[in-house]
Amino acid sequence: MSEEKIQSAGNAVDSIDPILPSEIGFDIDGVVADTMEAFIRIAREEFGIDYISKEQITSYWIEECLPIPLDIIKAIINRLLTDPVGIKLEPLPGAREALMRLAAHGSLTFVTARTVKEPIEAWLISLLSGVAHEDIRVIATGQYSAKAGVLDELKLKYFIDDHLETCRDLHKRGIKTFVFDQPWNRGNAPFLRIRSWKALSGIIKMPS
Ligand SMILES: [Mg+2]
Repeated sequence: MSEEKIQSAGNAVDSIDPILPSEIGFDIDGVVADTMEAFIRIAREEFGIDYISKEQITSYWIEECLPIPLDIIKAIINRLLTDPVGIKLEPLPGAREALMRLAAHGSLTFVTARTVKEPIEAWLISLLSGVAHEDIRVIATGQYSAKAGVLDELKLKYFIDDHLETCRDLHKRGIKTFVFDQPWNRGNAPFLRIRSWKALSGIIKMPS
C-alpha cells in the first residue's frame, strides 16, 4: 500500500481486515460532501468575501480560523444545513462513484451530527440517483457524541469522519475509525488517515 494512498500514525493498513460494504458507515459533510467548498463559494457570491481558501480552514469551527463576521458565518451555515440541493453542494472527488459501487452490494449508512436529516437525505438521494431510497439510510444524531451509540446499535464496525474529536470518541469506544484528510483535521491521531475516495475504496472488499 503506497504512502500516497494511505498514511497512518502507528497503524499499518495491512493490519486491518478487509472491510465489507455492510460494515462501514459514513459521515457526510467533509467526507461525502464538499461542504467547505460550498461555504467558500456562498461567502464569495452572496457576501462578497473573496479572500478565503479551503487551506485556511484549519479548525472544524470556522469562526476560530476565518476572519468573517459571526453573523455571516451563521447565515452561510444555515444555508448549508437547510438547502444543500439549492446551493448545489458538490460531492468530494470520487465519492459518488465509490458509493454507487458499494450500493450494488447492500444499503449505505450515513451518520451525521446535523440536527435535521431531510435536506441532506434529499441531497444524497439526488447524488446517488438510481440507488433505491431504502438503501440510503441517513441518521442525524444532532451531536457528534451520539454517533458511537448509533454505530453500536447498527452494529457498524468501521466509520469514516473528518472531525477529529468524533474520530477520537469513536476510537475510544472500540469503533475502527478512519479520518478523512482535510485541512482542519491535520495532526497526529491513532487512526488511519484516508486521503481520497480511491484509497477508501481500496480497503473495502466487495463480496464475491
Ligand atoms: Mg463531517
